[in-house]
Amino acid sequence: MIDAALLMATSDVVIGLVVAVPVALVAGGIALVTRGRGRAGDTGGGSDGTSPGGRSGTTAVADRASATAATRTAEPSAPTVPTGAGAHPTEGSPTEAAPVDATPTPAPTPEPEAEPASYRGRLGKARGLLSGYVGAIRARGKIDGGTWDELEEALIRADVGVGATDALLDDLRARVKSGEIAGPDALVDALKADLVDMLASDASGLATVGATRPPAGPDGVERTVDVWLFVGVNGVGKTTTVGKVATRLSRDGTTVLLAAGDTFRAAAGEQLALWAERSGADIVRGSEGGDPSSVVFDAVQRASSKGVPLVLADTAGRLHNKVNLIEELKKIRRVSDRPPGHVAEVLLVLDATTGQNGLAQAKVFLEAVDVSGVVLTKLDGTAKGGIVVAIQRELGLPVKLVGLGEGADDLIDFDPEAFVDALF
Ligand code: GDP
Repeated sequence: MIDAALLMATSDVVIGLVVAVPVALVAGGIALVTRGRGRAGDTGGGSDGTSPGGRSGTTAVADRASATAATRTAEPSAPTVPTGAGAHPTEGSPTEAAPVDATPTPAPTPEPEAEPASYRGRLGKARGLLSGYVGAIRARGKIDGGTWDELEEALIRADVGVGATDALLDDLRARVKSGEIAGPDALVDALKADLVDMLASDASGLATVGATRPPAGPDGVERTVDVWLFVGVNGVGKTTTVGKVATRLSRDGTTVLLAAGDTFRAAAGEQLALWAERSGADIVRGSEGGDPSSVVFDAVQRASSKGVPLVLADTAGRLHNKVNLIEELKKIRRVSDRPPGHVAEVLLVLDATTGQNGLAQAKVFLEAVDVSGVVLTKLDGTAKGGIVVAIQRELGLPVKLVGLGEGADDLIDFDPEAFVDALF
């Protein structure tokens, strides 16, 4: 349980309700691949993680360096108009939308092909940690007490979590005892297979745009706009993720509208406006410190009037205490789900570099909204790759998307087998 003091201490508690559904992401879903026992020979070494070659769910890659620099430094050039400055509506009586006057433009021409983000190419730190242990386990030549110590230390240090580590070790010990697993190589293979099974059991893809809308409400208003809400602590990468998803969807021909609901952080609106400009998406922004619910409400209204099927909502909740945070999240969700809107995804964005601490923070958001899946960012910058296992086991949530860098294309669908393969 997180208390107010902790929320204040993290100082950057932000609610990010991201509601975004790229058709391609959705249509493609998450590729589930049967586990690959018997491929241990491929996995012994562990490179520095710079070589491409892993599976990738991405399309063409934009210029990451320029995208990142622009995100951080450039002034937004898209015209922006605050929504109802100083007059944010209360729930149930939203004010007239005052969206950014930016007519949707066609998706930009894809930039030249570059190296796509891949697990193998970006998980160098995590692989560096695990491959050291795996090498030591193989080098022992037999399974003994030291083997189990190495294995346990590796999993804990990779942030798999105590519960999942115990479950994995119990299973492996029993299979060694029964004679099913003989020798270190078979043990490593079995561990990989167990990890894939654990991750695949909860895997699920993103909702298909328009496929989950319930019938019209009692007042007969049809639901014509899906909303993807992005929630999470400030700094985890919500705004960036919204931008990446918008880019993918736009490239795939799906028109999206962005809702800059992070009204607590002035830079967030500007950051999102840049992503909107880059992806050719329309955007609705609010005034600094304004009501995030009203921004999302306005965005849904605007999307409905323009025939845009999906709103991706970046919402902020750096509130003064946990109660405020939860109440604000609940309100945003209610407002988003009012016809013509329909909340199709609530994606909890977690920063992999925070490991188990991130899980504790996440529980605040689970109390507030029905989270449908996790976007795990910054996996490129941490050795704690095992946090994926802990998330699925401890939060009971599928990891749907993974961030592997700051660029527009550094977001890929979660693929359990490719992920585990890259980890080793
Ligand atoms: P927000 O406060 O949750 O909206 O977080 P931002 O979207 O502003 O991101 C915070 C920082 O994390 C920015 O510098 C992003 O470029 C960076 N970031 C976001 N996603 C990733 C990722 O997958 N990998 C890396 N290395 N950095 C990321």
